[in-house]
Order: sequence, then structure tokens, then C-alpha cells
Amino acid sequence: MNSLKGKNAVITGGNSGIGYATAQKLVEAGANVIITGRSESKINLAASELGVTGLVADVSQVKAIENLVARVEGLLGHVDILFVNAGIFAPAPLGAISEEMFDEQMGINFRGAVFTIEKFLPLLSNGSSIINLSSVNAYSGMPNTAVYAASKAALNSYTRTAATELAPRGIRVNAVNPGPVSTPIFGKTGLPEEQLKEFASAMENRVPLKRFGNPSDIANLVAFLASDEASFITGAEYNIDGGIAVNPILN
Ligand code: NAD
Repeated sequence: MNSLKGKNAVITGGNSGIGYATAQKLVEAGANVIITGRSESKINLAASELGVTGLVADVSQVKAIENLVARVEGLLGHVDILFVNAGIFAPAPLGAISEEMFDEQMGINFRGAVFTIEKFLPLLSNGSSIINLSSVNAYSGMPNTAVYAASKAALNSYTRTAATELAPRGIRVNAVNPGPVSTPIFGKTGLPEEQLKEFASAMENRVPLKRFGNPSDIANLVAFLASDEASFITGAEYNIDGGIAVNPILN
């Protein structure tokens, strides 16, 4: 089993969905975990449920990331596992892409990820592991996701360069590309319930394994990549998607 005993971990967006499940998994594996999120009440509730420390930091604000890093340094000293997970999904078709939606989505999913890593660099121990939460959308032409998919494709590209630049410090950088996972992210789009249900059943049908992923499915992979068992893995990407990325054109 992969033990993370004594390792210090930071999970951005750890109060919900995949981040929450990963916090649970890392705690079980023996890590000291700090989760972050935007909403104080949600982060406090999640932190007390998980028995971890919760800190408020909006990753779209570089100043907030700097404050977060200072607080983490005071609490943990150094970081061995950085799970760059915070993200939003704001679907819109071409013709209805607003500047606001573009800036928000790129600002959290890509710019937020880049500056999270940038500011945590001094705290990362040699031999630490960064895991970037991307999406199979980075490789699909799914309608309404042009900006979301581009934000994740940019993150995957960034991951490769970061892996080579940080290799001399023994820092590994990998990306995880989930397919559809049952989390609150879809409810936050503001789409009507009926439309969300249709979307979910159409999506489920496209997945060869015929189900959405559970947040714990993703947490298991992240825990592995965070562990020393993955010590030769860097610059890699893992699809974890029930096979949707290889769904055949014809069955
Ligand atoms: P979620 O909505 O349950 O969790 C998102 C987390 O990100 C929350 O904790 C939220 O507080 C945090 N967050 C959002 N904006 C933030 C900001 N500006 N600053 C700090 N924290 C912020 O959704 P989830 O599905 O668990 O999403 C986690 C990641 O997984 C995202 O990057 C998402 O793009 C990615 N992803 C999700 C799916 C899926 O189907 N659920 C598929 C592929 C990729």
C-alpha cells in the first residue's frame, strides 16, 4: 500500500468533490493535510469533518495565494504533496462566450494553477510531487466547452514543461485527466435541473464502463502519484475516465 506517513500535503479546492475525497484518502494514508477553498463556511465545515486544517484562498488572486503560502509555511514548514485541484466548469457555446466567463475560467483553472505552483515553489521539498487536476475535455471537442477545454489543455502543456524544469530538484509534476465524475461541479453551472439530468444520462451512455466516476476513484490515483511508489513518474498524464477517451466511433 502506498503510505504517505509524515508527508505534508496541500490540496486546493479541498472542501468539495474530488479535492475532498483526496483529502480523506491522504489523511488515511498518514499525510498531514491542509485544504483550501474560497468560502470560509464551506472550508471550515469540510476541515472539521476531515480533521484537517482549512484555509481560505481564492486562487484567482495572486495576493491570496501568497498569503496562503505564508500561512502554510508557518503551519507545516515545507510541502511534499501539492494537489492543484481548484477549478470551475462554465459551459457556453461559441457566440455566447463572454469576456467575464473567459477570464474567470482561465483565471482559476489555468492562471490559478500556474501561480499556485509558482508561489509554492520555495516551500516544496526536493523529491516532492505536484499533481495537476486536468480533464479529458482537454482532448475532446465537446460542445460548449471551448474555454474550459482550452484551460485544461494549457494546464497539461504547462505540466510537461514544469516536469522538465523541476526535475533537477527531484520534484515530479504530473496531470490527471478525469472523465465525468459525480461532484457538485455540474450543479454550480446554473443550468436547470432537467438539462443537467439529460446531460448526465447522455454522458453516462458515452462512457464504456457506463457510469460516472466517484471522487474516490480519482483520489486513489492522486494518492499513488503522490507516493514514493510513483518515484519514476513525471511529466505524465493519466486518463481516468471509464474509457470515454477511447469510446469507439462504431460499436
Ligand atoms: P467541485 O465543484 O466539487 O470542487 C471544486 C473545488 O474548487 C471546490 O472546493 C471549490 O471551492 C474550489 N474552487 C473553485 N474556484 C476556486 C477558487 N477561485 N479558489 C479556490 N478554490 C476554488 O468540483 P470537482 O468536480 O471536484 O472539481 C475539481 C477539479 O476537477 C476541477 O479542476 C475540475 O475542473 C476537475 N474535473 C472535474 C470533473 C468532473 O466531472 N467533476 C471532470 C474532469 C475534471
